[in-house]
Amino acid sequence: MAERFDVAIVGAGPGASIAAYVLAKAGLEVVVFERGDYPGSKAMFGGVLYTTVLSRFFPDFMEAGCVERYVVEKRFSMLSKADELSLSFKFLSFEPPYYNHSFTALRAIFDRYLAAKAEEAGAVIITQTVVDEAIMRDGRVTGVRVRREGGEVNANVVIAADGANSLIAQSAGMRGELPLSVILGVKEVVSLPRSVIEDRFSLEGDEGAAYEYLGGGAVRGTMGAGFLYTNRDSISVGFGIPLSALERLGVHPDVLLNEFKMHPVIRRLLRGTTPVEYCAHLIPEMTPQNLPRFVGDGILVIGGAAGMVNANPMFHEGTNMAMASGVLAAETIIQAHKAGDFSAKALSPYVTRLKQSFVWQDYERYQRLTRFADTHPQFFGKYPYAMAEMAKKLFSVVPDNDGLQVPKRKLELAVADYMLAEMGLLSFGMDLMDAAKAAML
Ligand SMILES: Cc1cc2nc3c(=O)[nH]c(=O)nc-3n(C[C@H](O)[C@H](O)[C@H](O)COP(=O)(O)OP(=O)(O)OC[C@H]3O[C@@H](n4cnc5c(N)ncnc54)[C@H](O)[C@@H]3O)c2cc1C
Repeated sequence: MAERFDVAIVGAGPGASIAAYVLAKAGLEVVVFERGDYPGSKAMFGGVLYTTVLSRFFPDFMEAGCVERYVVEKRFSMLSKADELSLSFKFLSFEPPYYNHSFTALRAIFDRYLAAKAEEAGAVIITQTVVDEAIMRDGRVTGVRVRREGGEVNANVVIAADGANSLIAQSAGMRGELPLSVILGVKEVVSLPRSVIEDRFSLEGDEGAAYEYLGGGAVRGTMGAGFLYTNRDSISVGFGIPLSALERLGVHPDVLLNEFKMHPVIRRLLRGTTPVEYCAHLIPEMTPQNLPRFVGDGILVIGGAAGMVNANPMFHEGTNMAMASGVLAAETIIQAHKAGDFSAKALSPYVTRLKQSFVWQDYERYQRLTRFADTHPQFFGKYPYAMAEMAKKLFSVVPDNDGLQVPKRKLELAVADYMLAEMGLLSFGMDLMDAAKAAML
């Protein structure tokens, strides 16, 4: 294969496909290489999708069936051994077309939908093809080397959209070695009839629920967090955990997944389900210090490859950031194409626009909170566990010696004692101050 394209894109994730769509619509010759059997076949994410960028180009995406349900309940739960204390938000006042909701999605379906849109617009998508490296000539990227016969493909610009482990960015000298801090994501999709899901989670029609779990009962009280999302006729259940925490526990991730699924709170939600899919992925956590350069001569780096992920238990964002950076990259390339200049300087407006957008601003802000979480794992394990235990103590009705009931004051004191013993007033207070500082910076 010895071809010449305006743009060669590595990877067919959400960032790549939307970039390919925008570029092809503008009349540029675009090729996308995907190593998987089809777009999405090798993708892993929790399962929540934010769609403002998507709906700008494909306002009818919901009718197209590429997403599962729109989220009307977001629940944050703290699990102790067998109890749950949760904060639930129900959004029943949102109205169609629901773009300001998040949606649940399955990547095998969503990525294929988006890639098909790029193809319809004129982009060429080539699957089952690994790109080994960026081709460099005189310090600039001039194409990619694909693992096929005669596999040199020339392009004015290459977009590295090959996800967080981006070898393309590395081969083009855009970043050093990957960071040592790595998150393991583990997920199972289990099937359940649609009507059972709707009854069990109190949903109507295409409404969905997204639950996040912290505390000792979730991932053995480590910095990890569990999740459970309802799809149309299946449920995504899993967790993310720093690899270092997993090593300290010394257990196989399947054991943790099984424990989580067997927690009395989760078991009830999964009753009668059948496993249909399992996936696990290692994803590097990029701090601002080890981010790649976003542009070079003849190359742009987008989405996960650029480290633009906000995958904390509160937001679980990344695919939307990938799509947004894909659009910004494509719009920059269209301008560069008009000027016939693909130097790093000509491509640099991409960096400016990325930094002005929510992508960079949210990444930067929540990175600080992620760093805070790294040094304060008690917010993931010990404290949520203790909160659930305290709620249990406070709402228990205890018989007294006369066969009546212990007065509430005694229960309140018992809760205060527990809090002092388990959480330590001083250390808890100091941790709260640290948390407030991290949130306000
Ligand atoms: C535990 C966890 C949970 C998450 N949950 C969510 C969530 O619920 N919602 C959300 O929005 N985000 C979530 N994210 C983040 C999200 O998964 C990523 O931000 C997003 O997938 C990045 O999209 P992308 O298009 O940049 O690349 P990716 O989706 O990573 O796609 C890269 C593509 O490139 C292909 N590829 C890679 N290398 C090559 C190569 N050499 N040659 C050819 N093809 C190649 C891959 O097969 C893949 O298809 C989560 C992340 C983690 C760690």
